[in-house]
Amino acid sequence: MATGSPYFDDVRGKPEVINSPSSEDMIDVVEHVIDPTQTSVKQNPIVSSSVYELLECPVCLTAMYPPIHQCSNGHTICANCKPRVHNRCPTCRHELGNIRCLALEKVAASLELPCKYQSYGCVGIYPYYSKLKHESQCSFRPYNCPYAGSECTVIGDIPYLVAHLKEDHKVDMHNGSTFNHRYVKSNPHEVENATWMLTVFSCFEQYFCLHFEAFQLGMAPVYIAFLRFMGDDNEAKNYSYSLEVGGNGRKMSWQGVPRSVRDSHRKVRDSFDGLIIQRNMALFFSGGERKELKLRVTGRIWKEQ
Ligand SMILES: [Zn+2]
Ligand SMILES: [Zn+2]
Ligand SMILES: [Zn+2]
Ligand SMILES: [Zn+2]
Repeated sequence: MATGSPYFDDVRGKPEVINSPSSEDMIDVVEHVIDPTQTSVKQNPIVSSSVYELLECPVCLTAMYPPIHQCSNGHTICANCKPRVHNRCPTCRHELGNIRCLALEKVAASLELPCKYQSYGCVGIYPYYSKLKHESQCSFRPYNCPYAGSECTVIGDIPYLVAHLKEDHKVDMHNGSTFNHRYVKSNPHEVENATWMLTVFSCFEQYFCLHFEAFQLGMAPVYIAFLRFMGDDNEAKNYSYSLEVGGNGRKMSWQGVPRSVRDSHRKVRDSFDGLIIQRNMALFFSGGERKELKLRVTGRIWKEQ
């Protein structure tokens, strides 16, 4: 329910007018479209941009998809917003009824638009109705910041995020495909979800995120280490990695496939797709008097042939 949204406030204060400015705009556009000198919607930028404006729902301001509804005066509204306006046209406040705007749906079907990730490098042009689907899978769509310890909202392409991790999150960067890391925690009996580490590896001209963290698995505190690939899933599958942890003459090892950073850190962790170490075992590996967690994690990343 969108009570309190600007739209609802707006409607309350408006008198009932049928010839509102927006209905005049619409008549203008219709005249352009039927002008015989401007038969092609695609080739005329002025008409096209007006058509795109027509396809914007007046309530949620996003692009409309079938079924597009209209009131008896011809004002349109998207299918998501229609149930929210209590059968009143948001533009003229007349009863909305159940009228489809087939003409506008057909006009939309004739349009082609560039992918919204054009500025990230996508050169695709898509029919109006398949644009959304493409954008949800576009390989140029930006990635979320892979840093796990905060609700960071930064998005961008991989080079941008690598610089962001380095500069804003002060993440350790390593070159090479093998690693030998020590995780030390002075009070391992406080297992809280906020205990995590991120290291970024650069090898094979790619970037990988090694995550290490403590979390609660049911009642049991555990540690998990896993690798994520900074790129798409289809490329992540070209790599494998191994992790090994041990001490006191014992050893645990794990071999896996890095997950794409398209999968959230939490999603990977909650699927246990990594090396999981029970806390008791972790303390055993740490040696000493179980007062300190000292885990040595070694690993390797390689490219599958
Ligand atoms: Zn809407
Ligand atoms: Zn209306
Ligand atoms: Zn695209
Ligand atoms: Zn970030």
